[in-house]
Amino acid sequence: MEDRMHRISGRSQLLLVEKSAGMFSTVLCNGYGVEKQLPAATPAKDLIAATEVDYQEYRKGIKHLREEHPLFEDRIDISVADFEDFVAEALLLPSMLQKIDPVSFFVLGELLHQSLQTEDDSSASFLLNAAAELLYILEEPIRVQTCLRNVFEMTFDGMERAKQRERFEKLCRVYPDIGGLCDPAALPDVEPGHRTFAVNSIFGLRLLELALYFQQDNQWIARCDYCWGWFIPKTKKVTRYCDRVTDGYPCKQRGARFKRNLVEEQDGALKICNQLRDRMYARLLRWQDAAPSERDGLIPMDYDQYDAWSENARLARIEYLKGKLTAEEFLRRIDMTQALTSYEADKAELVEETDWQHFVAGRYSFDPEMHYPEVMQILDLRVPEPKWELHTADDLRREDQKGHQSLRERYGKS
Ligand SMILES: [Zn+2]
Repeated sequence: MEDRMHRISGRSQLLLVEKSAGMFSTVLCNGYGVEKQLPAATPAKDLIAATEVDYQEYRKGIKHLREEHPLFEDRIDISVADFEDFVAEALLLPSMLQKIDPVSFFVLGELLHQSLQTEDDSSASFLLNAAAELLYILEEPIRVQTCLRNVFEMTFDGMERAKQRERFEKLCRVYPDIGGLCDPAALPDVEPGHRTFAVNSIFGLRLLELALYFQQDNQWIARCDYCWGWFIPKTKKVTRYCDRVTDGYPCKQRGARFKRNLVEEQDGALKICNQLRDRMYARLLRWQDAAPSERDGLIPMDYDQYDAWSENARLARIEYLKGKLTAEEFLRRIDMTQALTSYEADKAELVEETDWQHFVAGRYSFDPEMHYPEVMQILDLRVPEPKWELHTADDLRREDQKGHQSLRERYGKS
């Protein structure tokens, strides 16, 4: 897997130098020596920062180059002048990262330079392949971040009470390839304090930091219930909220208020019934919208299955409302796919992973930016007067995260 990630070669490399126990500085070395030394941070802190780099504008730059550049226009001749213009534009793109992500800026400079050393035969296919290669290299920081975000999602979400070892074991279960590459037991046996590590790719750097993170026990990575950002709790006690200010209020303050809504709302079998229905309906939409060849990662749900589920739930609901079924019996009846942990109404929670978690667990390269179309038109047949509605990529993601999402997204709008 790591082979698919690009490596810098020659004398260039990335060093991770331990300045004091547990504090590492990333050092960018080109063929002549040290180019830049970044401020020291703990692996946990540096990893969190890496998941948060905003590549939106940079992504747009790459997309523009890929979709608008005349080099890729459909025609018989490919002009060398177009290729040269393409290269000039490609070489400019990394400058967008210089401030926000100096590591990627440095690595891209090296990789693009390396790639352009290939012997040029000026044939059309050579030029197109060379251009495609440059685009692939430019996307490297995005691929690494996507993978790292997915690793976080699978390793640190809902693991507040776990030990470091258990977090690492969870990662190994979900993504065995990645777990194997950041095993703390595989690190050289050197006394912490003055260690130096060398790697030659951005991905390698993140894997090394993950290994060093799992090796220590002073800092844990946790998810804020309110904003869903990653943070390092100050103590080992379970800490639900980070110190960020989101939408003008500290996460702690807003979070505590919304948490009360959540408790009241989750109390009750009808609420669970609604959640289950939403889940089944979302599945139906996705199954219907996907071409047969795209259905591999999906849970099957056709109209017949959906109808059977809702008719059963409708009848059970009537009986429950009439008092003929207890809450427990009601939940047992509607839970045709065994999605509930318990049939006590105030304890039942959906344990089945959300569609979002299902996608992330399926592929560490799952990239929401590519997965969701910018806008999709959906006809909601659950409402009395169905109308076509536009759903943005954000709406679609939220729909997939329903049942397990930040308090902010759950209640933020109301
Ligand atoms: Zn927060």
